[in-house]
Amino acid sequence: MVVAPSSPETTCIYCNRTFPINEFSLEHIFPSALGGKACGDLFKTRTVCSRCNNTTGLHVDGAFIKSWFTTNGAAASAFTYLDPISGGLVPYTYIGNIPALSDAEYLYEFWVGPSGENVYSRSPRDDKFFGYAGGNPITTKKVGRDVIIFGTTTEAYWLKVGLLSFSDFFYNDRRYSGNFQLSQDSSSNNLFIVPDLAGNEFIEKVKQYRSVAESNNTSHGCAFSVDIGFADRFLVKLALGLGSSLFGDDFVISPYAKHLRDALWAKSTDERHDIPLRGVGYWDINDNFDRLMAWPGGHTIMLQRFRDDVALVLYVYGKKSGIVVITDEFSKFTCELESSLNDGIVYILVPSRRICTKPIPMQDFVSHQVGNSKNAELASIEALRVELKDLPPR
Ligand SMILES: [Zn+2]
Repeated sequence: MVVAPSSPETTCIYCNRTFPINEFSLEHIFPSALGGKACGDLFKTRTVCSRCNNTTGLHVDGAFIKSWFTTNGAAASAFTYLDPISGGLVPYTYIGNIPALSDAEYLYEFWVGPSGENVYSRSPRDDKFFGYAGGNPITTKKVGRDVIIFGTTTEAYWLKVGLLSFSDFFYNDRRYSGNFQLSQDSSSNNLFIVPDLAGNEFIEKVKQYRSVAESNNTSHGCAFSVDIGFADRFLVKLALGLGSSLFGDDFVISPYAKHLRDALWAKSTDERHDIPLRGVGYWDINDNFDRLMAWPGGHTIMLQRFRDDVALVLYVYGKKSGIVVITDEFSKFTCELESSLNDGIVYILVPSRRICTKPIPMQDFVSHQVGNSKNAELASIEALRVELKDLPPR
């Protein structure tokens, strides 16, 4: 049962259970870690219970955001919008775990920074989170990781980008210097800590590993794993959130929304595939339409009506594309955006600049992309884009 907003109880759109309203919290339908805080009201809801907010944040958003594909998309895309003078932050690229160093107690992982910095991290091992870059995010947040950085450049611009990004990306961790000369001034002291006994043990193990690899001239044997269905649950959850935002309670109690919820909580990929959902998929960008829609270094969020379906089409970091049908009963609902959805609307979200556009009519977006007529908002984002040749040499 869906109750009126004035009631002290309300129903959660993800689990369909009713709780007092103080057990609900603000949910970013498009996750903050992917830049969702910049999105407008359509992408925010207070109809998700705190329990679902936490659980899906960890197991649905987390599995997508911490996947090898998404973390690397985030890192590559940040270069696209670096400021050539003042720099900016670039997430570290996840290469994978290092089986030769990892043991039953600890997971060792390898990351590369914006100018080639080598970073090794060590966190308590938890094989349930093996597809997550950085291991179990809860443990990591609680106890922190040991991380050590080896710099590769002395060029001032990149040194600054690399080190500031390091302290931002590993902000919760015990950060050690591998080969930086520690000066006495307080600003650089904030970057690193002085290792204790356990820290020294970690540093020695990594240094030994590096010197063996160097003398044998071998690369780090890294491995990573990907959960096959890592994007499906994420897309299904987006569809539920946006459906509720667009169409309200009538959508939440609709049969298709029930299918979406079943798919969100399905125990396995096989079980999920038995649910009659329409068009859930995630793939590499491969045709001319994809290339037209994908936005370098940002996300394209497109909503469009096809007959009685409304589909969400997503291009993540200009690299991967996903689609999910939000509803197959559009004509049954009332919706403020009805006329816009008929023609299609597009949002462009650039996480590293915390920018999200207003809804842009599909026709205007396409005209802009093919060069027929410029859209001012899109042009202002394009003006921030740089290529590596525009940045100081590394
Ligand atoms: Zn819930």
